[in-house]
Amino acid sequence: MACPFLREVHVKYCQSAAVRKLIPMVDSGRTDEKCDSASHLSCKLFQAQAAEEESLACPYLRESLMQYCGAAPVAKFVPYSESLLSRCGNDSHRYCELYLALSHPETAGSGPAAEIDAIPMPEGLRYSANHMWLDMTEDGICHAGIDAFLSRTLGKIDRISYVWTKGRRRPTAVLSAAGCDLEVVFPNEILLTGCNLYLRADPSRLVAEPYTAGWLFEGAPLPETRQDLLEGAEAREWMDREESRMNEFVQQQVSSQVGPLAADGGLFAAGVARHLDRERALALFHEFFSPYASEKR
Ligand code: SF4
Repeated sequence: MACPFLREVHVKYCQSAAVRKLIPMVDSGRTDEKCDSASHLSCKLFQAQAAEEESLACPYLRESLMQYCGAAPVAKFVPYSESLLSRCGNDSHRYCELYLALSHPETAGSGPAAEIDAIPMPEGLRYSANHMWLDMTEDGICHAGIDAFLSRTLGKIDRISYVWTKGRRRPTAVLSAAGCDLEVVFPNEILLTGCNLYLRADPSRLVAEPYTAGWLFEGAPLPETRQDLLEGAEAREWMDREESRMNEFVQQQVSSQVGPLAADGGLFAAGVARHLDRERALALFHEFFSPYASEKR
């Protein structure tokens, strides 16, 4: 499905001009327009390569169908065929910065937002056991990122680096948080076509909007991409168990500590990893978010 902000317009342009200036047809319906009338005979460009046959309109006047983003402050026309290849012409538009800024969807995924004990968990996404999500669309494109359980655990991410940006890979990023460099690995391969490079300048969006502007990877799914992922009721039950497991883990690790680590209404405290010492933070990460966690369900 194409982006609702994608607009189409017919344009005219001069084939002979050195610089192609596109004129939307809505602006060019004037009967006195030089190119559309016998006045083109007085045009210097036409005279430089005058056509053999006479016609009312200039033979070098061309028309084309273009598209542009109705949400952008300045309209940039792109040929119809090119926009179909970009994210504007398919379901990927749900992860476009401009689209998200104007639409404010709760989730970029196809389903409504749901919560398991205050952990948002959008329907329609698939989840890996190491707390990453996958959104696969009918257009043959997929996006992946970290879920709200992982982002709540970290609380603040200082830096993000991508290990791979292209190719057939298990998408991998390194998150610097709580004084550690933590590798998050999507457990199955995808044909990676891009990463959310905006996050390198503003990693806070990874925590604030993990399912929308905080997406990490974009690509084309392979037959094995959805293998062992959880969805629907099975995913919700798993998340419920993970919350209990996290509460137990934190209590065991820091049974003598109170304050910011105390559970908030049954749910572990936001940013819990930042209140642990380095060794305990690494143990927590290994237990819940390492690629090894993917095999532990
Ligand atoms: S640039 Fe973004 S908002 Fe604009 S048409 Fe494309 S996907 Fe939609």
